[in-house]
Formats: sequence, C-alpha cells, structure tokens
Amino acid sequence: MALSPAAYGGFLAGKKRPEYRYELFTCAWHGHELAGQQTAEVTPEDAVVVRDVGPQRWCRCQRCDGWFAVPIPDDPSEEQVPRRDQIDLPLRAPALRDRYVLRLLELDRMLHVVTLTFLAIAFIAFATHNRSLHADYQNIMNALNGGGAAALKFRRVLGSLRKAFDYTPAQLFVLAAICIGYACLEAVEAVEAVEDG
Ligand SMILES: [Zn+2]
Repeated sequence: MALSPAAYGGFLAGKKRPEYRYELFTCAWHGHELAGQQTAEVTPEDAVVVRDVGPQRWCRCQRCDGWFAVPIPDDPSEEQVPRRDQIDLPLRAPALRDRYVLRLLELDRMLHVVTLTFLAIAFIAFATHNRSLHADYQNIMNALNGGGAAALKFRRVLGSLRKAFDYTPAQLFVLAAICIGYACLEAVEAVEAVEDG
C-alpha cells in the first residue's frame, strides 16, 4: 500500500538507526569478513560461521553478522575452517565506533594544519609586500571614492581591512611563527594518532 508523503515521513521518523551501523558502513566500504570461504571441508561444528547448503556455501560476516552466499571453491586454499582462536576478529561495536571517532579527530587536526599553514603563508606574504599592498589598497580606496552606491558599499567593506596595515612586518612574522608552531604541534599529534591507531 502506497503511503502519503506525510505518512511516509512519520514512518521514517519512527525508525531507529541500526545499532550496528558502523559495522554495515565498514563492510560496505571494505567488504565483508567471511570465514571459511576458501575452505575445502565444512563440518557441522563450523555451522556458526559457514554452512554448505546443497550446491551453495553460506558464510557469516565476522563484522556485521550477515550471511552471504558464495560459490564453493574449486581450488580451496585451506583444508579446514580456522578455529575461533585462529581467526582475527575485526573491530566491532564500541571499538569500531571509537576507531571512527579517532579518524574524525585526525581529520580535524589535519584541517587545522592546512588552515594554520595557509595563515602563516598569508602573514609572511603580507609582511614582505606590506608597502606595495598598502599602496594598492589606498589606490583602490581612492578609486572607489565618489563612485555609486555599490562602490561606496564595497569601500565600506574594504575599510574593515585597514586595521591589517596597523601591524608591522615584525609582528606579522611573529604571528606566522606562532601559526607554524601550532601547525607542527597538530601535525605531530596527528601522526602519532595514526601510528597508535
Ligand atoms: Zn559484513
């Protein structure tokens, strides 16, 4: 039965996000972790992770718990299904969620590094071309003086940049050095987090 848009919205609002969404996303991105896919012999004791049903083999994903049909291998690479203690279980549940949170923190740090580096470059460029930039700024402001309403509005916006010229080149170099220092600190922390993770 087709639902009206309002009813469909209510239907979606009542749906909870699956608790194993991190597992689903990871499997969609990296593929499923199927045990026993390349095994020659499947016994009833292996039924928790792999089963042969007629001409079809069903393998259970060690991450998302889904069962997936795979062809029975013509050239199996292992004799028996690995025992539980021989299987490297992938991250799941809170550990997997924590991995994603850490990755987001690393991404946030890298964005800080990029932003701080651009700021440092801008400060240095501004410090080394301070005089010529100031002259160009004055020329633009003079050219906009006496223009129409749009020109006056633009001049007002540019007027807020005047304070940038109050800083001496030495002060701008200090600001650039502070930005570079923070960028290095963030970069080191991001690299350490990647190595730990
Ligand atoms: Zn999976």
